[in-house]
Amino acid sequence: MADRSPRLLILGAHPDDADYAAGGLAAFYRRAGHVVHMVSMTNGDAGHHLTFGPDLARRRLGEANAAAAVIGATYEILDLHDGELLPTIENRRRVIALIRVFMPDLVLTHRPNDYHPDHRYTSQLLQDAAYMVTVPAIVPDVPHLAANPVVAYLPDDFTRPYPFEPTVAIDVGPVFDQIVSMLHCHASQFYEWLPRGLKCANTGRRWMM
Ligand SMILES: [Zn+2]
Repeated sequence: MADRSPRLLILGAHPDDADYAAGGLAAFYRRAGHVVHMVSMTNGDAGHHLTFGPDLARRRLGEANAAAAVIGATYEILDLHDGELLPTIENRRRVIALIRVFMPDLVLTHRPNDYHPDHRYTSQLLQDAAYMVTVPAIVPDVPHLAANPVVAYLPDDFTRPYPFEPTVAIDVGPVFDQIVSMLHCHASQFYEWLPRGLKCANTGRRWMM
């Protein structure tokens, strides 16, 4: 649609993936007055070494909302368990519905060859939903889209079976402070859980979770 602001949907597996991987683009979108919606397919209730379950999910919801507020975006967290996401029909319907409701022009998600099963299945769910968002008979209670949004991958460091090759790259220097401010909101991750992972293992992914 030409008569409305561009709309960016970033579909991550966990409540910090979207802003970690695309916070710069999100900040640029908001700076231009566009609309940004960040989604986590899971509630993040396993992403800590000292606490887990509903208490951690609530904490991470608060962190995500605070991060979104930094740039004036919105964050939606599905109430699905961290580490247990599966590409079920039910979850595919969820993704179809949220894409239809938000009506994005651009959707970003993980690549399907990621180390984390939640990342892989988030990618699979989006791939499975991408065409179906235009099919009226699928999830008929949510109006279908007339056309598909553009779907693209978030960057990562994985090299097998093939490395990430950017087709679009932007200089996020002008919004770097906003990126840092967003990540600062995820205290449970960037100051507690992820630094511990750095000391424990080299996952090939540096510190993304
Ligand atoms: Zn993640």
